[in-house]
Amino acid sequence: MIDDALEMGTGEVVSAEICIAGAGASGITLALELAASGLTVLLLESGGMKAETQTQRLYEGEVADERLHSLPHRYRQRRFGGSTTIWGGRCVPFDEIDFEARDYIPGSGWPIDLATLLPFYPRANELCEAGDFQYRAAEAFQRPLPPMIEGFRSDHFSTDSLERFSCPTDFGARYGEQLRNAANVRVLLHANVTTIKFHPNGEAVESVLVRTLTGKQFTVRASCFVLAAGGLEVARLLLANRDTWPHGIGNDHDVVGRYYMCHIAGTVGTLKQSGGTDRVRHGYDVTGDGIYCRRRIALTAQTQRQLQIGNFIGRLHHPRITDPAHRTAVLSALQLAKGLISYEYGKRLHGEERTSMRTWMTHMGNVLRGPHEVLAFGHHMLRDRILAKRKFPSIIVKSTAGHYSLDFHAEQEPSASSRVNITMQRDELGLARLLVDWCYTQGDVQTVRKAVQLFAQDIAQSGIGVFEYDPHTIELEMSRYGAYGGHHLGTARMGADRRTSVVNSDCRIHGVRNLYVAGGAVFPTSSQANPTLTIVALALRLANHLRVAAEGRDASKVRATANEPSDQLLRASP
Ligand SMILES: Cc1cc2nc3c(=O)[nH]c(=O)nc-3n(C[C@H](O)[C@H](O)[C@H](O)COP(=O)(O)OP(=O)(O)OC[C@H]3O[C@@H](n4cnc5c(N)ncnc54)[C@H](O)[C@@H]3O)c2cc1C
Repeated sequence: MIDDALEMGTGEVVSAEICIAGAGASGITLALELAASGLTVLLLESGGMKAETQTQRLYEGEVADERLHSLPHRYRQRRFGGSTTIWGGRCVPFDEIDFEARDYIPGSGWPIDLATLLPFYPRANELCEAGDFQYRAAEAFQRPLPPMIEGFRSDHFSTDSLERFSCPTDFGARYGEQLRNAANVRVLLHANVTTIKFHPNGEAVESVLVRTLTGKQFTVRASCFVLAAGGLEVARLLLANRDTWPHGIGNDHDVVGRYYMCHIAGTVGTLKQSGGTDRVRHGYDVTGDGIYCRRRIALTAQTQRQLQIGNFIGRLHHPRITDPAHRTAVLSALQLAKGLISYEYGKRLHGEERTSMRTWMTHMGNVLRGPHEVLAFGHHMLRDRILAKRKFPSIIVKSTAGHYSLDFHAEQEPSASSRVNITMQRDELGLARLLVDWCYTQGDVQTVRKAVQLFAQDIAQSGIGVFEYDPHTIELEMSRYGAYGGHHLGTARMGADRRTSVVNSDCRIHGVRNLYVAGGAVFPTSSQANPTLTIVALALRLANHLRVAAEGRDASKVRATANEPSDQLLRASP
């Protein structure tokens, strides 16, 4: 059933066995999986079915440096479906090394390993509508693919690893009907969780207070609560609720909101091929079941260990759009049309210094030299992206000169100095607003610097051309557009030690018997991988945990792997 909190009576008390705050990828996945369990589930969502300006404003806050991180109401959507209403759909599982404690990355190491998540990844892939859980080109394609870069030989990079693309699936639009029809699930829209109330003994949550923007408020009692409000908002809710925990829930050791990670991303250098321009397979390969896939240039785990750097992948990319020296009509047309592109996708076009009249004219000249290409591109975008259900994932422009830049996406290491905190400012519902102070480390710079250097070296040694770049501009390029927008990770990190982590391996807040976190907040490290597939896999694992715990069974015996004893859910209503 889907109801609207705007129609509730003030002062009502609603009960459920499991209460989930937030209906994005993680909250919807949890509710869907629990629908079959028979447990009564209440899914509280702040937004409505569509974007609403007043609700989105609840996300407003401050950033320490706007060049490094966008304002907090950007790159998030406060509505049913959460940020999956605008995500790009790139799906990539974590690598084995991402879970390891690496002595050269302080704060690394998950209390679970890849094997723990593997049983949940195929279903996560299914929910993301990304086809089979096969992330090696050799497995995903029955036919051998032409080499990604002909003649490229490297012991340091693999070109067989794939990223697969979701439709991109808007979890609200795709799964809303299933939730509406689930007898034991109730979704409440326009329901903002603001206050988390504890039992007098302080060990368990008793209820949450829910408010609407029209001034209504009511109480939700449940046996178990899950915060699935997104990586920034989870920290905000924990830090803002101080009645029982003076420093914020789970924050006795000042860990909540710290270790905030996104990804380090940027575009660098130029690959110039020698002996012909056709060595590069640039673009997407489509699987038998119609899923767009792309091969990446992935740094091997062994090389990461040898160089003592983080995880890193690259993709060959068109030259920087803003610089008309690329002389490519389509890219110049995109630059001139940047006003039509949303902030989240156009930031790389908007983030540059002001376009001078001379630059503008040069872009115009590029367009006028290639009107047919621009028209053909426009037709392709309309047919394959705007109108198609499964959308062509990104702009692919083949370089006539055979020149490509390297687009990279790298792990950001956890650092206590990179943090989100609450301020004295309050939103319309009285909740303290966020201050985001994201920063990267010199370790992050070294990851990109060494990986790019190695790529240039391997291209040269393969004798297929040259990768030209300026080593002195690496830090500028990796921070040019700031933190990679929509990935909000690490603010309630998972770990075995409550002095250095917020949740345990079951995603339960240390010291609280019935409060869990779902989403990227629990990631102790960020990997090179985009987070949503892993967020969904973790939500599936949490649903499994809650189900078996509620049945009174020992979850550790039912779960695929467990490194900690499981908790019994509070059976009796508090
Ligand atoms: C432009 C963009 C592109 C992206 N592309 C990719 C990609 O290609 N691949 C990838 O892996 N990831 C991508 N992401 C990230 C992806 O969208 C997120 O990882 C994912 O949506 C996180 O899911 P979530 O459920 O944890 O949080 P969200 O999707 O943010 O959902 C949180 C929900 O909680 C609700 N909420 C918040 N506060 C409250 C409250 N107090 N009470 C009740 N409800 C509340 C919100 O309204 C929202 O619906 C992208 C993000 C953006 C913005």
